Amino acid sequence: MPVAVASISPAGAAEQPVASPLTRDPGVIGRITANGAFHPISASSAAGTFQAAAAKVKITGPATMTKNATYTVKVTGSSKVCGIIEQSLPRQDMKKPYTMPITLKDLKAGKTKLKVYAVGCSKTNSYPVYAIGYKTISQPVHLGKINRWIAPSAEKKADRTLALTVSAPKAGISAKLMKGSKTVKALGTKKAKKATFSWAPGKTAPGNYTIAVKAAGHTVRLATSITNGWAPMNWPFARCKTLTWSYNAADEPDRAAGMSTDIAEGFKQISAATGIKFKHVSSKGTIGLTWAGTEHFPDGDTDADGLGGSSGNGVNATKGTVWFNTASRWVGQPGFGRYDGVPGRGALIVHEISHSLGLGHVTAKSALMYPVADVGSPTTLTKYEIAGLNALYTAKSC
Ligand SMILES: [Zn+2]
Repeated sequence: MPVAVASISPAGAAEQPVASPLTRDPGVIGRITANGAFHPISASSAAGTFQAAAAKVKITGPATMTKNATYTVKVTGSSKVCGIIEQSLPRQDMKKPYTMPITLKDLKAGKTKLKVYAVGCSKTNSYPVYAIGYKTISQPVHLGKINRWIAPSAEKKADRTLALTVSAPKAGISAKLMKGSKTVKALGTKKAKKATFSWAPGKTAPGNYTIAVKAAGHTVRLATSITNGWAPMNWPFARCKTLTWSYNAADEPDRAAGMSTDIAEGFKQISAATGIKFKHVSSKGTIGLTWAGTEHFPDGDTDADGLGGSSGNGVNATKGTVWFNTASRWVGQPGFGRYDGVPGRGALIVHEISHSLGLGHVTAKSALMYPVADVGSPTTLTKYEIAGLNALYTAKSC
């Protein structure tokens, strides 16, 4: 499972959650645990411990997807490589010449980008990543983009409506909404090579769904989620635990003086609103807050004032991280008040901590988890985040 991070910026550049830094930067290296969780090591930490240049990954197979297409992965250039991991498949131990067939049974929406990690040998539970290979595979059936999160309480109608455009080489396209293997709702059948399916989820229970599209003899699936105004981004920490947090002020810019007081207040506010218990520790907290320069922010996110995310074991988060951008001007506006109507840095702090607790961005501008802050934006948690955190942690059951 990749680490998930997302950020907030003041009025201006909106940004998207980063599903995996690896898709943007193959140079990022890290560790993969035996269950497949990926833990990136940033350029600033443990630099040089694991070099990505030790091996080369090559993937061969058809450029256009067919049913049960097989691809071969070959790793060359290192005697140390002893495992290959393909996306969500388990680690495979192997001997030279390090080849592995991968059979893709199910078509995915749009183009498939096959991503393969070559990992190093280790007797411990985790493996350094040596190299990453990609292959882009086109699909005969094309699905348009869809809102990843559909929020019934969103302000814009488009954010409350599911709309999916499909094109196929043959006429006759049908679509249905599924929860696991159960059909929740048929979205219709159209006698054309191109069709749009639209549907308002209304009172459909929040959760993760799949849209299954049948066309030209293929079934193509697309994951989507329905929320009630909040969006889970990542798995949460285990319920009912006291979460420790620590703040590393080593690179704190002068204008951010008093940051630690605002961070402590942020945790206090989240705790008061949700019942989640936090404890401050001087270092190595489960949630670590620190500073990073613009160069360490993902491509396209360099305007972001902060990033928040977590990594975990695929079931629960095990470590949360919040980075504040040393170039941020917003961090020079202390507290939870307003500056000409724009919230102080308290809103940034609580937004990023909420990412590390598992919340993603939402489409409702009145929510703290909207990715851009502007005049009138909330200064702290709103009913949306409180509902989201209660759903993830249900503090009252502890
Ligand atoms: Zn964000």
